[in-house]
Amino acid sequence: MKIKNIISVILTGIMALSFVGCVNENNTANQNSGGASIPDVEINIPKEKNIYNLKQEVKSGVYEGTCELVKNKYFIAQNKTAYKIVIPTNATSNENLAANELQALLRESTGITLSIVGEDDVSSSDKIISLGQTKQFLATKESIAYDEYRRSGYRVFTKNDNVFISGAKESQAYGTLYGAYEFLSQTLNYECYSQYCYVIDKVTALPFYEMNITIIPQMESRALSYMWVNKDPVYQNRMMLVNRYENQTDWVLDGHSNLKILPYETYGAEHPDWYMNAQAGNKNQLCLTNQEMYVEYVKRVKELIEDNPKGVYFMLANMDNSDYCTCSDCFAEIERCMNVGGYNMAFVNKVADEVGAWLKENYPDRIITFVTYAYLATYAAPVVENEDGTYSAYCEDVIPRDNVAVMIAPIHLDYAAPITADSNLVYWKDFEKWSSIIDKMFLYDYGYPYWDGFTFMNDFASMAENIRYFAEKGCIFYYNNTLSSTASTWYYDLRTYLRAKLTFCPYLDLEELIDDFFENYFLEANEPMREILEELRTWFTYLREEERAYVNCSSTYWKGNSKYWPRALQASLYDCIDRAYAAVEKYKTEDKALYDYLYKRIRIIELGIDYHEMEFYSAYYSDEGYDKLYNAFVEDVALCQILKENENAQSTWYLKFKK
Ligand SMILES: [Zn+2]
Repeated sequence: MKIKNIISVILTGIMALSFVGCVNENNTANQNSGGASIPDVEINIPKEKNIYNLKQEVKSGVYEGTCELVKNKYFIAQNKTAYKIVIPTNATSNENLAANELQALLRESTGITLSIVGEDDVSSSDKIISLGQTKQFLATKESIAYDEYRRSGYRVFTKNDNVFISGAKESQAYGTLYGAYEFLSQTLNYECYSQYCYVIDKVTALPFYEMNITIIPQMESRALSYMWVNKDPVYQNRMMLVNRYENQTDWVLDGHSNLKILPYETYGAEHPDWYMNAQAGNKNQLCLTNQEMYVEYVKRVKELIEDNPKGVYFMLANMDNSDYCTCSDCFAEIERCMNVGGYNMAFVNKVADEVGAWLKENYPDRIITFVTYAYLATYAAPVVENEDGTYSAYCEDVIPRDNVAVMIAPIHLDYAAPITADSNLVYWKDFEKWSSIIDKMFLYDYGYPYWDGFTFMNDFASMAENIRYFAEKGCIFYYNNTLSSTASTWYYDLRTYLRAKLTFCPYLDLEELIDDFFENYFLEANEPMREILEELRTWFTYLREEERAYVNCSSTYWKGNSKYWPRALQASLYDCIDRAYAAVEKYKTEDKALYDYLYKRIRIIELGIDYHEMEFYSAYYSDEGYDKLYNAFVEDVALCQILKENENAQSTWYLKFKK
C-alpha cells in the first residue's frame, strides 16, 4: 500500500457565515450572476475532519483529500436542485444502497429529494452526483481498480460542477457506499454513532464543495460480533462494517473448515487414512500429507466456490483442537516446514496454487483470498530469528502465496494493556514473527470476557494502540469477537463505534472519538456518563498495576469478588447516574421518543452497577428495597436486551439474585 501524506481539509471561504446566493431561471442553484437575486442564505460549515487532519505519518492505507467550499455555487438552494443521483445500468446492490442512502439522508437534511436515474437517462443539462463507475465517471478518465482500492476504498471528487463517488466496481466492494457517507460527512457533518443515533445538519441550502478525496483503509473488511450491529444491516453499513456470520455470503466457508470440506461422515468409513485418530470423529484433524485426500480436498474446494458465487474469502483451516496428524509422512513434513504452523501453511499454499490457477482459467472475475488459522497447534510461525533480531521464513513453502492470508487469533492477549506491554511480550513476538512472512493478515480479535459480561474489561487501554499495530503489520481483515447473542452493560454502543472508527482509520484519536460520541449520544447527560467511564478506567488501571489484574477474554478470577467492586465506587457511579437522569428529565415532556432512547442508554449502564449491588451489597437493603431493585433490574435487562450474563448463560440467569 502506498504511503501518502495527509493533506488538511481546506475550508477556504468559510469565514463568511452567510452570503448572497443566486438562482437562475431554471431555478438551478449556481453562480449565474444574471439570475434573480435571493435573500441571504445561511450556509453550512462542516467541521474539520480528523481523517484528513492527522498529525502523525500514516503508515498504512491512504487517507488524504481536500474539500473546499465554493462561493455562490449550490447543490441545493431555494428548495431546488439541479442535481440528480446517477447509478450504473447494472448497479451492484451496494451501489443501489449508496443511492438510496444518499437520497434519504439528503432529504432528511434539506427536505429536497434528488431523483435517482440510470446512466443512460442523464441529459446534457443535468448536474449529477454519480455513484459507481457510470459512463459519466468513465468519461473523467479516472480509474479505480479493485487491486488497489479493494473492498472499502473510494474516491470522491468533483469535476465541472459534478460529483463523482466511486469505489471498485466489483460486487463485493463497498467503496461507493462508503464514499456516499463521506460526501455527507464532508458537506453536512453526517455521523452515525449507534443504531438509533446519528447526526446530520438540517439546512435550507447546501453549498457546493470542490472535493478531491481518496480513502483506502488498510483493513479492507471490518466485522464486529456485537449483536445490534449484526442484526441491522443499515446500522452495519453506516458503521462501514461487514457481517461475518449472518448472511454469510462473504465467506465460501468460514471457521474450522477442514472437516466441513471433507466431512468424516462422508469419507471416514472408506478413507480412514485421510484422518488422524479416526475415532475422534469431528474433533479430528486431516492427515495433510495424504495425496488421495489432497485430490478430493481440491475438488471439493472448487465445488464449494461454484456453489457460493458471492464468496470472497475461503477458510482452509484446522479444527478447533490442538491435535495434528503425526503419521510418519506428516512428521517428516512438520520437520521440513519447521513446525505445525509451517506444515499447515505448505498445505494451504499447495491448494491455493492449484485452485487459484483453476479460478484464473474458469472464473477470471472472482478474486478469492484463502485464509488459514494461526491458532492452537498452528499458532507458532515457521520463521527463524536472524542475528540482527529480524526473522526469515524457514523455507520457501511456508511463505503464504499472494492469494493466501493468515488469521491470527491472540486469545490469551491481556487487553488491559497494549500488545507492546511486558505482559503481552510473548504474543507480540508471535505477531512480529508472522508478519515477517505474511502480506495479508486476518485478525480474530477479542472484545469481552466471555464468562462475565458484567465485568468492566478495560480494553480502552489497548484498543487504539492494538488496532494501529495490527494495521501496520498488514492486517486487511479485522474481526472482533465478543458476546454476540446479547447486549451488555458497559458502553456497548461506544465500543462498537470506537472499533468501527479505529479499524477504518487507525490514526484517529481515541479520546477525541470518545468525546464526540458522548456529546452526541448522551446529549445533556454527557458529563456524568463520561465520569462513570473515567472512574472505571482509572479503577481498573489501578487494579491492573497494583493487583496484576490482567484481563484476557477468558479471565474469571474477579467473579464473585467484592474487592473489585467496592461500595464507595458503587455509590460514586450511582451519583453520576442520578445526575444523568436529571440532565435529560426535560425530554420526558419535550420529546418523549428521544427521552426513551436516552433512558435506555443510561439505564443499560446503571444495570451494570445494579448487578454488583445485588451480588455484593444486598445486606444494605430492606426486603422491600431489594425487591424493588431486583424487579426493576429484571424488567430492564429485557428492555436493554441484556439477554445473558455470559455466552453460556441460561435465559433466566438473573434468578440467582431473587430473594
Ligand atoms: Zn498424516
